[in-house]
Amino acid sequence: MRMVLFGPPGAGKGTQSAKLADKMQIPHLSTGDMLRSACEQQTEIGEQARQVMQSGKLVSDEMVHQMVIQRLSREDCQNGYILDGFPRTLHQAEVFGEYLGQQQTPLDVVIQIEVEEQQLFKRLAARGRQDDDIKVIHKRLELYESLTRPLLDYYENEGNLRIVDGHGTPDEVFSGIVEILQDVGR
Ligand code: AMP
Repeated sequence: MRMVLFGPPGAGKGTQSAKLADKMQIPHLSTGDMLRSACEQQTEIGEQARQVMQSGKLVSDEMVHQMVIQRLSREDCQNGYILDGFPRTLHQAEVFGEYLGQQQTPLDVVIQIEVEEQQLFKRLAARGRQDDDIKVIHKRLELYESLTRPLLDYYENEGNLRIVDGHGTPDEVFSGIVEILQDVGR
C-alpha cells in the first residue's frame, strides 16, 4: 500500500502514520522527521534546512524531493509506505507524480485528515516544539492554506483522494482511516 497522509500541521498525521505503519508493517516516512534528524546530525541538508524550519517556512522542493526519492529506493519501501508531510506543494506533487509514473508505482490512496483551524491552533500551541511558537504556528498554517491545500484538487482530479474527520480521539480517527483503507480494497 503506497499512501500519503495529508493534512494541516496539527491534524495528527504523525500519530496516525505511526499507528498505520505498525498495523500494516510498512515504513512511516515523515519529511519533517527526516529534516529534524538531519538538523540534529548537522548534515549538509540539516544545516541548510535549520533556519527555514525554525521560521515555519518550507525548505526547497529540490531538497525534499531528493531526500524522499533516496528514501523510497530502499528495500523496506518495496511493499509500500506511508508518506507524512510530503508532497506539500503543487510542484512537489507533480514531480513526485512523474517519478511514480516512471517507476510504475502509482499511489493507492491519499487521505486528507480534516481538522478545523481553531482546533489546530490549540493542538500546535500545546505541543511546544521549537517550530511551534505562536508566530511560527501562524506562518505554518498560512503556508498550508496557500501552498498545500491546493493539492487537494490535484489529488481529487487524480481520483485517489479520501477524507477522514480528524476531530475525534486518535483511536476514532484511526478507525476512520482503517475503514477507508478497507474500502480502497486492501
Ligand atoms: P512537519 O513535521 O511535517 O510539520 O515539518 C516540519 C518542517 O519541515 C516544515 O515546517 C518545513 O519547514 C519542513 N518540511 C517538512 N516537509 C516538507 C516538505 N515536503 N516541503 C518543504 N518543507 C518541508
